[in-house]
Amino acid sequence: MKVPLLDLKLQYLSHKKELDEALIRVAESQYFILGKEVEKLETSLKEYLGCKYAIGVSSGTDALLLALMALNIQPGDEVIVPTFSFFATAGVVSRLNAVPVFADIDPVTFNLDPNDIEKLITPKTKAIIPVHLYGQSAAMDEIMAIAKKHQLKVVEDGAQAIGVQYKNGKKVGTIGDIGCYSFFPSKNLGCFGDGGLVVTDDDELGEMLKIMRVHGGKPKYYHKVIGGNFRIDEIQAAVLNVKFPFLDAWSEKRRENAKLYTKFFIDAGLAEEEGKLIFDEKNKVLLPKAVYKNPNVKNYHIYNQYIIRVEKRDELRKYLGEKEIGTEIYYPVPFHRQECFANLNCNDADFPVSNKAASDTIALPIFPELTEAQLKFVVDSIAEFLKS
Ligand SMILES: *Cc1c(COP(=O)(O)O)cnc(C)c1O
Repeated sequence: MKVPLLDLKLQYLSHKKELDEALIRVAESQYFILGKEVEKLETSLKEYLGCKYAIGVSSGTDALLLALMALNIQPGDEVIVPTFSFFATAGVVSRLNAVPVFADIDPVTFNLDPNDIEKLITPKTKAIIPVHLYGQSAAMDEIMAIAKKHQLKVVEDGAQAIGVQYKNGKKVGTIGDIGCYSFFPSKNLGCFGDGGLVVTDDDELGEMLKIMRVHGGKPKYYHKVIGGNFRIDEIQAAVLNVKFPFLDAWSEKRRENAKLYTKFFIDAGLAEEEGKLIFDEKNKVLLPKAVYKNPNVKNYHIYNQYIIRVEKRDELRKYLGEKEIGTEIYYPVPFHRQECFANLNCNDADFPVSNKAASDTIALPIFPELTEAQLKFVVDSIAEFLKS
């Protein structure tokens, strides 16, 4: 049985008519830049996320870059980021000639460990970028308290977490100073290419983000600040306007798939309860845990990725590949081990949790359209591997 890591065709086919119509609508209008579709998308998302400004941009990476530019991050400024994330989280800091300062992660959530932040703060520290990795919130209360104490800005990397709610119900991305999201095709809300969003509740930052999205000109051709071309296309916004109403249902389906995985793994005797870390037990699977799960919050986790931990991860991946089961490693090399950051002279021993995660995590198929039989086949195949 074939189980791809992600099959976007299934989602496309179930909304083909509306999506095709949206594309044709933009083609017939021949209006491509910052028009009605972008305006509609921004209005929908502002309401959905519960924030004052929602500004469509060219990608999740550009959302982060623009956020740091709007906060006036300067060469030599330090920005604390988790060492375990997608490259963009750290890359944008270096692109401004600022310095990414790496922190270790929590072993259960894979998110920035708040206990690792304060010792990294220096007089040059300007901001923290918590990442809501795999689709669950970072420890925002703790992070915001540290930021407040040291007067640091917080830019949330919610690229994998649009719609995710923190334990108090607030949507992630709207807790810090600026929130960033990605509409890359593999995210829970994906467009037909690249796209992203920045959000804020701050009037001054909101205006600055809007101006900097169009080169910093206001009025047009008069520049007090330097921005860039950070616009989202009308075509992408039109696609997202069709898909957005289904976002919560798709995320719910991912949660249901995660529940089935948990059940199948435990039934097969391969796992203990979710989030239990027993690294010395061979032939066991460590299941992901939604730490902020509570009865009042629906989107406590949106499972953009479903990540298990196993010994012999690489052999397992090869075995599953032979059975046509798609998997991926998010991420095999933490930032402190990347060649491009060698000049930062990081000490590898400072990041034990991230180093371990890089060696034993593996992403399993979790997208909404998967069948129960496919999920069962994935677990059965892992059982075969571990018991052989
Ligand atoms: C996808 C992703 C980004 C970048 O988004 P793009 O739209 O691909 O530029 C940034 N951070 C994280 C954590 C991501 O997963």
